[in-house]
Amino acid sequence: MRKNFVKIALISFLAIFGVWLGSTFINFKKAASLGTVMPRSFLHLERPVWADTKVRADSIKTDLIPVIDVHTHSDFSNEKERSSNITMSEEQYLRGRKEANVVAAVHLTGQNGSGFRDLSKLNVIRCYGVGKESINKQKLEKELKDKNYKCFKIYLGYVHLFANSPHYQPIYQLARKHKIPVIFHTGDIYTAKGKLKYSDPLTIDEVAVDYPDVKFVIAHLGNPWIQSAAEVAYKNPNVYVEASALLIGKIETYPKEQIDEYMVKPIQWAFGYIENPKKFLFGTDWPLVAMKPYLDAYKRAIPRENWCDVFFRNATEVFDFPDEIKNLECK
Ligand SMILES: [Zn+2]
Repeated sequence: MRKNFVKIALISFLAIFGVWLGSTFINFKKAASLGTVMPRSFLHLERPVWADTKVRADSIKTDLIPVIDVHTHSDFSNEKERSSNITMSEEQYLRGRKEANVVAAVHLTGQNGSGFRDLSKLNVIRCYGVGKESINKQKLEKELKDKNYKCFKIYLGYVHLFANSPHYQPIYQLARKHKIPVIFHTGDIYTAKGKLKYSDPLTIDEVAVDYPDVKFVIAHLGNPWIQSAAEVAYKNPNVYVEASALLIGKIETYPKEQIDEYMVKPIQWAFGYIENPKKFLFGTDWPLVAMKPYLDAYKRAIPRENWCDVFFRNATEVFDFPDEIKNLECK
């Protein structure tokens, strides 16, 4: 009788232990498959592992976070964009934002401030696109004071001048004085008339050194000179990158292998190389590509714990967005 009691007690204990072990393993596997890193508490055994993995797994499931797209265009001509076939209209733009939960954006005007729609009410801030025409510093300074522009965009390669050209010095001086960032187009050029030697991101290093108080953003991650872009951002505390338009067109129809090879892997590599999640921003280059599929692929390249920085918070630290945006919760 006593022997039977011991046997039953032992079997019950083993059964309970088995269920507990199984559920812990499932929780852990779930967290692992969602791409999280092993929680610190697991390593130090301060708290039971299943408690933290469950919390993390739950928060990881929530992929709806506020997003800021720092590279968009708003010359709404109502024509279809030649690669993506997206109609360039305010309606389509707003639909794209809604799909990707884009709560705020940066619009880049064309050269010499051309081609844009004023959407400041929709938490859009505008960058003045610098062309090759001579720069009217006084006029531009008034626009900055009136908050018509809150950043500059320099079209390296489209304009046949290096980043350190004397032509751009008044722009850097204004950026320093008004504490606004400067974005550079880098890498491949969307027209055969561009000259590639000017769009290599390596040339931005010199400007970053000469203007340490100005924040510079390398657009397109220097694609395909991604190593140069990553090194310039790694070495200079005032240089950031965004990886817009690594692929353009209808990427929702592209094979996963193609998106991995030409977008996810390069971003992953640069993100690792730069070693600072605060240096990375999110941008699409809408209307060259739809926001939601681009965001989905971008998210695959960035660890979940860095999403709020990369897709939202970093942009509010580089650009001057309204408080209602800055104060949005992201987790
Ligand atoms: Zn662009």
